[in-house]
Amino acid sequence: MQPKTQLTTLKPYQPGKPIEEVKKEFGLSKIVKLASNENPYGCSPKAKKAIEEELQNLHLYPDGYAAGIREKVAAHCKVAKEQIIFGNGSDEVVQILCRAYLGEGTSTVMPAPTFPQYRHNAVIEAAEVREVPLVEGDHDLQAMLEAIDSSTKIVWLCNPNNPTGTYINSEDFASFMEKVPKGVLVVSDEAYYEYVGAEDYPDTVPFLKQYENLIILRTFSKAYGLASLRIGYGLGAEKVIKAIEPAREPFNTSRIAQAAALAALGDQSFIEDCRQKNNFGLQQYYDFCKEQGLSYYPSEANFILVDIKGDSDEVFQYLLSRGYIVRSGSALGFPGFIRITVGNSEENSEIISLLKTFLQERIS
Ligand SMILES: *Cc1c(COP(=O)(O)O)cnc(C)c1O
Repeated sequence: MQPKTQLTTLKPYQPGKPIEEVKKEFGLSKIVKLASNENPYGCSPKAKKAIEEELQNLHLYPDGYAAGIREKVAAHCKVAKEQIIFGNGSDEVVQILCRAYLGEGTSTVMPAPTFPQYRHNAVIEAAEVREVPLVEGDHDLQAMLEAIDSSTKIVWLCNPNNPTGTYINSEDFASFMEKVPKGVLVVSDEAYYEYVGAEDYPDTVPFLKQYENLIILRTFSKAYGLASLRIGYGLGAEKVIKAIEPAREPFNTSRIAQAAALAALGDQSFIEDCRQKNNFGLQQYYDFCKEQGLSYYPSEANFILVDIKGDSDEVFQYLLSRGYIVRSGSALGFPGFIRITVGNSEENSEIISLLKTFLQERIS
């Protein structure tokens, strides 16, 4: 049986290498995974406690409406409860949006390189994908506007962008929203929102009042440290959220995920602490890059894309065989670069020291 032909052009998502696999392959006992932008400090202890309590209810279906976490997110983000859609990770919200809006004869516009799931889901829905190259790591918003025509249903903004860590500022975001036709949905994927420090990063939620064609994506997988539980959400106009709801599976977020997310959201001091440590970690990499004369993109997220001026697969293998999993830029549209998730300060120092040795060996 042949599936839809467009599936034959896609590869399954290539995640960062799993820890267990690397342990076996290289006979190592300690592995540090800095490949998928997970939080090196785990999650809030309050989330762990909430999970333990929820273990009493494993035999029960979750609340498909996710009332508890819905109320908490609504208060946290200052939106109405009806303005939220939860997903099995924000990945699933991407899928729901594609199911809801894309199909044959439609098109979708996105930057490139960016998070691969926009393209992946659009291809499955048989939409035409229009990829607009980043310019020096930044979204080319003007070219993205020009790529929109009457067939266009969704425009994707990844802010901060994965894998560059670069961001769209509030002035550019506002002017983009003003110019995008009202019939085109703008998705602002803010998976790294909690890490952003830039003063001129846009506060997009207030735009929801004026623009019915805006959806904001956030997740509990990154700063909140709950990647394994798969929970994220979209914020939008009540009308739009209601319209896309039928494309959502009835029990798409688990009881455990809902309980953990609720508790995690209530522990903002954990998030603040992680943000500060992440900034310190980024500085470690900036200092290293400056010292070694390597270029990098200043990052508003918890990862850094570094130009190692060579074969990125070689550096990847070098680090991998020593127990450090990063992402090779060749898999991310940035050959010659590596993307490193910011770890704790010790992990960062170790990886920096390995990279120094690697670069030294390369010269001699
Ligand atoms: C990690 C990531 C996501 C997906 O997060 P989940 O909520 O775990 O599905 C979405 N967008 C971007 C840009 C990401 O980097």
